[in-house]
Amino acid sequence: MSVAATSPEALPRGACPTLPAPMATGDGLLARLAPAEALTPAQAAGLAALARDCGNGILEVTARGKLQVRGLDPAGAGRLAEGVGALRIAVREGLGIETSALAGRDPAEVFDPRLLAAALAEAAAAAGLAARLAPKVSIGIDGGGGLGLAGRDLDIAVSPAGAEFRIEAAGMTLGRTPAPVPAVLALLERLAAFGPRARMRDLVAAEGEGALGAGLQPADPREAVPGEPVGRHMLASGWALGVGLPFGQIEAETLEALADTAAQRGATFIEPAGGRALLIGALDDGGADGLADWATAAGLIVDAGDPLRRVEACPGAPACGAARFATRGLARELARDLAGLAKGRSVHVSGCVKGCAHPGRAGLTIVGLDEGAGIVIEGTARDMPARIVRFDELASAVRGFLESSRG
Ligand code: SF4
Repeated sequence: MSVAATSPEALPRGACPTLPAPMATGDGLLARLAPAEALTPAQAAGLAALARDCGNGILEVTARGKLQVRGLDPAGAGRLAEGVGALRIAVREGLGIETSALAGRDPAEVFDPRLLAAALAEAAAAAGLAARLAPKVSIGIDGGGGLGLAGRDLDIAVSPAGAEFRIEAAGMTLGRTPAPVPAVLALLERLAAFGPRARMRDLVAAEGEGALGAGLQPADPREAVPGEPVGRHMLASGWALGVGLPFGQIEAETLEALADTAAQRGATFIEPAGGRALLIGALDDGGADGLADWATAAGLIVDAGDPLRRVEACPGAPACGAARFATRGLARELARDLAGLAKGRSVHVSGCVKGCAHPGRAGLTIVGLDEGAGIVIEGTARDMPARIVRFDELASAVRGFLESSRG
């Protein structure tokens, strides 16, 4: 079986690549999948083998916790789709509904968000909503556990409010209800009627949260719960270890070895987590320590304070044909400098103005342009650079900038 490639231009505006409809990128086709459940270590190792055999051996976990396989050709994309089926990895389709990577395992949760997510997915599918909404419309179900959904760009969020459910639209608290599924469906219907490309922030701006929350009871705003997956997380029994992937990528051989090592230490699940990480559990104390040591030696991140967590970089050259320079070498150099030089500053290194790794603002953005490397302060890869320098003087120019803005 082979599948048809879809160029970014051919995709509907804002559409995302999927397993059956991969997207053409600079290093071949990219297929994205959202596993419906956590992977077993054997499934993770099997997926790594598929990435090596069908693509260029690079896998990614996105900021929203989806898996990507890179460097496919049409025949390889077809074999990947078949292989995923053979591994019995069920893939979520339809409306984007996100839960914590620890959903159902977090002892601090007030309710199991997976059940509400499933009920909502079923109701939305019956109403044919996914086809009538912008592809990036996303709903977050936060069960109230210790690993939250902070930092996600959610159109609608549902979270516990006493014995009821708080409903938010574009980050604004609308109110609470005992019946969240009809409330969310009603909001989605209004959003679909507003326009097929509309996001909830557009609807809130047009109608106001008061009108959208009519019929709901007043509720306090949700407490912000950090969404940082890297590090240890307590489970009802044992621990989950969050392992960050530098720039969201892992090589197939490393993922295979990670899955084998995790299984040897008793882990039964490997869950892709929002924030470009893998959550692995359940582990006892010794197992978590041992796996953390192994992951560190393999170049993965087990400390949420690691400066590499503050640096975003797209694949860059030579992986992407649009890139003007090798982004990741510079990003690693900058991460080494960041600990001492750029307190709290986020850094984005982008091979071109598309800004694939981080569409939003960053403290410092370095972007590849035809005329050289642009340095953008507090902006995005598309913003006007404060300076443009030659690529061969970029590293020293950025270091000079960080030193001058130290403190
Ligand atoms: S931002 Fe990076 S990955 Fe995206 S198109 Fe440009 S060079 Fe390629």
